[in-house]
Amino acid sequence: MAGYTPGEQPQEAGFIKLNTNENPYPPSPAVRAAIEEALRRGLQKYPDPMAGAFRRRAAELLGVDPDWILCGNGSDDILTIATRTFVGQGDLLRLPYPSYVLYKTLAQIQGARSEEVPFEADFTLSPRFAAATEGLRLAFLPNPNSPSGTVIPPETVLALAEQLPCPLLVDEAYADFAERNCLGLVARSEKILVSRSLSKSYALAGLRFGYVVAQPHLIREMVKVKDSYNCDALSIAAATAAIADQAWLRQTRAKILATRRRLTDAMRNLGFVTIDSHANFTWNVHPEHPARPLYEELKRHRILVRYMDYPGWGDGLRITVGTDDEIDACLDRLRKLV
Ligand SMILES: *Cc1c(COP(=O)(O)O)cnc(C)c1O
Repeated sequence: MAGYTPGEQPQEAGFIKLNTNENPYPPSPAVRAAIEEALRRGLQKYPDPMAGAFRRRAAELLGVDPDWILCGNGSDDILTIATRTFVGQGDLLRLPYPSYVLYKTLAQIQGARSEEVPFEADFTLSPRFAAATEGLRLAFLPNPNSPSGTVIPPETVLALAEQLPCPLLVDEAYADFAERNCLGLVARSEKILVSRSLSKSYALAGLRFGYVVAQPHLIREMVKVKDSYNCDALSIAAATAAIADQAWLRQTRAKILATRRRLTDAMRNLGFVTIDSHANFTWNVHPEHPARPLYEELKRHRILVRYMDYPGWGDGLRITVGTDDEIDACLDRLRKLV
């Protein structure tokens, strides 16, 4: 198998990094304080295997009981755990196309098959996405989707889940940047699991923390296949402090949404076709200028965006919403190129 290739993470400084949807703003100051406090308590002992402190705090915030939540070493860990729980060798995993490339790799690791159901031209999902197929055990739906930044409304997600013969994991890595989300559906359908990440909206990609919300009988099955200590003491303390500071989240989100508006308008003025985004990135295709040379030219000037090429669908540039200064630098460079 080929293995998943993450976006470039240059180890030298000096890059404007708009390629992996990190938050350009720092996390809440409470995060640093929580890590220092956890260090004072020491690291000799194993961490809480269920990350109880985080579960209790998240449960309060989300209005569910703690046993509806399972934590992971980033939400990628949650996706791995869910695949391991539901998809056996030779089984089938469904995903939309184009979407998060990792899902296919997770099926391969299980020795399972995957089936990509293409989005319609307007980024709605065809009824094929909910069709019952022999061996189908799990469906992934990133919502908002990457690379398009588009969303499927919760009522449509519920209808899909009701038709599907298997659980539907709604990957809400970007939900904090959208107007609506599917969290409220979990109590209504045992088939719906909602995963979240602290990497993007909470500015903690370097920490590695994510979680999933689902009905307790599903959480219990997932606990069986997870690594015993999949979250470490420092990340549990830091993630708990991060979600407790909702005011910080609101402030950084407001800045990012304002810059997303500016970026979208400016890209369109440059002649790009830019989809309205509900995430912290935009998807951009220029009708006259091929995307790859634009990506390479930007990179030569130490501006990294994500060039993505989806066979049968097309290629383009996914640009993370950075600070206003970072986006201005990127736009200035693009203005010289198109
Ligand atoms: C970034 C991302 C993730 C992974 O998030 P981590 O919590 O950093 O592992 C999962 N799904 C999608 C669609 C993402 O873009």
